[in-house]
Amino acid sequence: TPRVFSGIKPSGGLTLGNYLGAIKRFVDMQGGEFETIYCVADMHAITVWQDPEELRQATREVTAGFLASGIDPESSVLFNQSRVSAHAELGWLFNCVARVGWMNRMTQFKDKAGKNAEKVSLGLYAYPSLMAADILLYHATHVPVGEDQKQHVELTRDIAAKFNHDYKVDFFPACEPVIEGPAMRVMSLRDGTKKMSKSGESDMERINMTDDADTISKKFKKSRTDPEVLPEEMEGLANRPEARNLVNIYAALANMTGEEVLAEYGGQGWGKFKPALAELAVEHLAPISTEMKRLMDDPAEIDRILAKGADKANEIAQPILNKTFEIMGFVR
Ligand code: ATP
Ligand code: MG
Repeated sequence: TPRVFSGIKPSGGLTLGNYLGAIKRFVDMQGGEFETIYCVADMHAITVWQDPEELRQATREVTAGFLASGIDPESSVLFNQSRVSAHAELGWLFNCVARVGWMNRMTQFKDKAGKNAEKVSLGLYAYPSLMAADILLYHATHVPVGEDQKQHVELTRDIAAKFNHDYKVDFFPACEPVIEGPAMRVMSLRDGTKKMSKSGESDMERINMTDDADTISKKFKKSRTDPEVLPEEMEGLANRPEARNLVNIYAALANMTGEEVLAEYGGQGWGKFKPALAELAVEHLAPISTEMKRLMDDPAEIDRILAKGADKANEIAQPILNKTFEIMGFVR
């Protein structure tokens, strides 16, 4: 069976971007033609500083977000990355396959390092090679991600191809990013050119999955827009990034296309659209956040689910890691 792998870093609380760009689609891919493996990528989180207590808390919150959204630990493998040491091991092997020049082209590194590239961790730079290990350790072929991760999945293909070529094997399969739908790049509510991120500076930039109804309404109400009414066609949003973002969020939540949203709201102003959007978001997120809070009241149960998931992940990963060692000539 074709395999899906994806993950989310516990680098803060989950956002609407994580929900629409990742989790909602992870749920959609579960239980069908794919075997689905989902990971709380704690080892990726520490590429930037994480307070230990906050990392523990965020690991449980991301897990609760998966479960509350509909990831079923019986039909998907759900675990935290650090528990399966094969990730770190294959990550090192791939550090010796990937080229420095490839890493230098990664736009996420440039964004995250900013002007301070000398001061960031070596891990932040090597991150895409660990991500390649995450995916290839399971011979995953399909990787549902938001638009921002496309380049890293393409790099994963390059690493797989170079490994196969260098060792004259056909071992690691080619994987493809699965990026579809209107909200593959949810933007900041304050700046339509910047991605919404859980690690973004201001809480007003993002909708958190655990925000209450009032907070969600307030954030959409205060979100940056322009003075124009909504156009009748998507082309009318070409140079209106903030407006386009809100229409795309509405479309993704309502399972509509942007065109369908504009067919309904074209000609209307923000006074009408923003409250409708807030209501739709609350309708979707309220039951999930209620369930997340319930789950987080029992951290031992969350930990038990993750430990069980890690056992299942190990069963798949270990033979693939062992075979990789063998191909490379390690005496084991
Ligand atoms: P950080 O700021 O720490 O990088 P993040 O919000 O970008 O956090 P990640 O853990 O890096 O979240 O990414 C998890 C998944 O969510 C990835 O598949 C990523 O593409 C997706 N994702 C993150 N932000 C968005 C967004 N704004 N729109 C759509 N998808 C997103
Ligand atoms: Mg990110």
